[in-house]
Amino acid sequence: ALGLEGEELDEKPVDSAEDLRNEVLQFNTNCPECNAPADTNMKLVQIPHFKEVIIMATNCDACGHRTNEVKSGGAIEPHGTRITLRITDPSDMTRDILKSETCSVEIPELEFELGMGALGGKFTTLEGLLKDIRELVERNPFTLGDSSVPSRTGKLQEFLGKLQGIIEGKTEAHFILDDPAGNSYLQNVYAPEEDPELTVERYQRTFEQNEDLGLNDMKTEGYESGGAAGR
Ligand SMILES: [Zn+2]
Repeated sequence: ALGLEGEELDEKPVDSAEDLRNEVLQFNTNCPECNAPADTNMKLVQIPHFKEVIIMATNCDACGHRTNEVKSGGAIEPHGTRITLRITDPSDMTRDILKSETCSVEIPELEFELGMGALGGKFTTLEGLLKDIRELVERNPFTLGDSSVPSRTGKLQEFLGKLQGIIEGKTEAHFILDDPAGNSYLQNVYAPEEDPELTVERYQRTFEQNEDLGLNDMKTEGYESGGAAGR
């Protein structure tokens, strides 16, 4: 950041959040794939009609590995969100998606469910996320929740075929984001009008979900503290 100081001092006084908005912060890390020294870029991004998030991108010069991680800029929302999109058109693939690190993904037509925490936080398009899912399932077919090895290959091929049909816009399906922290988003392409294919429900979290988010520890009474800890 050394070379930038002169320019910035000419501007009106800036607060630190505004600074972060206009600047890409860079720090040294190691590539998660090959462990070579790499740079991570960090930027605060405003998602239209939603909120600000922090995007962290690492590009490795040594092996070409790229990661793109999103951290929710704000706190946990008062309610969870369940977002359902009916995929009816190939153009749906270009919709922006923010899948927070606490969000699970469901595609009922494929009997597919991706648990909270898998794939981490992502800011991408629907197509990008479906391709990430494809890659994850190819690498680890047990993601499909099938432990019987003999039938695995057939089931895997069937799943990948159907998923490809959805990515290419040939198969209609529902795509569900369920985020108990309320920090996930799927682009309404008709905004500010209502999107006929998109439903957003806000719901009260269960005790279990509050437990997963670590919120119950903040309460002082009313719940027993034994048993549920230490997963
Ligand atoms: Zn690398």
